Amino acid sequence: MKQNSIQFQKGLSLATFLENYGSEEKCAAALFNWRWPVGFTCPECDHTHYCHLHSRAMYQCYRCGHQTSLTSQTIFAGTKLPLTTWFLAMYFLTQQKNGISAVELMRHLGVSYPTAWSLKHKLMQVMKECDDRHPLTGVIQLDDVYWGGEHHGGKTGRGSPNKVPFLAAVATNGEGHPIAMRMSKVKGFRKSEITLWASKHVDASAIVVSDGLACFNGVTEAGREHHSIVTGGGPASVTLDEFIWVNTMIGNVKNSLAGTYHAINEKHLPGYLAEFCFRFNRRFKLEAMIPRLGYAAVRTPPMPFRFLRMAEAH
Ligand SMILES: [Zn+2]
Repeated sequence: MKQNSIQFQKGLSLATFLENYGSEEKCAAALFNWRWPVGFTCPECDHTHYCHLHSRAMYQCYRCGHQTSLTSQTIFAGTKLPLTTWFLAMYFLTQQKNGISAVELMRHLGVSYPTAWSLKHKLMQVMKECDDRHPLTGVIQLDDVYWGGEHHGGKTGRGSPNKVPFLAAVATNGEGHPIAMRMSKVKGFRKSEITLWASKHVDASAIVVSDGLACFNGVTEAGREHHSIVTGGGPASVTLDEFIWVNTMIGNVKNSLAGTYHAINEKHLPGYLAEFCFRFNRRFKLEAMIPRLGYAAVRTPPMPFRFLRMAEAH
């Protein structure tokens, strides 16, 4: 049997993680480098000379006197938690194949449930923003999917009230191998929604392949190349080469989310989908996931709790 090189890659051991990020000083140094890779820059005036106010973990600009903390204007803003707790949360979210629920995170980190929940949702938002910055390229297999609904209303057909529509897209390279994926909640399978989605998530150089559902013409409307393949539906259509990866990933995300989470509130589905995609998109580089996530985290604006709990599509 051929060994699966992704499944058996070394990953980031907990020992190595602790060596790199096991103290407040190490975490602060990592955050500083992610936030200011070419050295400190004052957020007010762009001046590069500063002094470090050790007593308050603040950086003061020499020119304008503005004081910045390492975490201000980032997803970590206003946190009362040690950075080591944040970093451990980043470790668990990125290194577990199927993610980690807020309850498990609470147990591993020794924090309250609301704290674990908030940490997880803030980091999921970072993952989403990180991936959203990179439009998909290559040949993209696109499909319409409904999440959930089966256990609540009794109706399982299309348009059942508890079903949440989302788009699944898998970008493949010249050899037909999957390179990246994006899963996005939409308001409905309407042409205008697809146009909006394609303008944001599909690179101008990409080619999109979908089934014959009329709304997918919205891809062309966004100025992207689009081919529809009429599948006729039924079990045979899911094994078509053109859609093999997107169908595989739809199966995987449903199994993964069902296995890890007791229930998912539909308004938070975008975050859970983003978490799944983030790990997949970086599966060749398990060790680099924490620097990637950290780099994105210091570029993600603060998210007050009340905003975190609001619904968000796209
Ligand atoms: Zn300044």
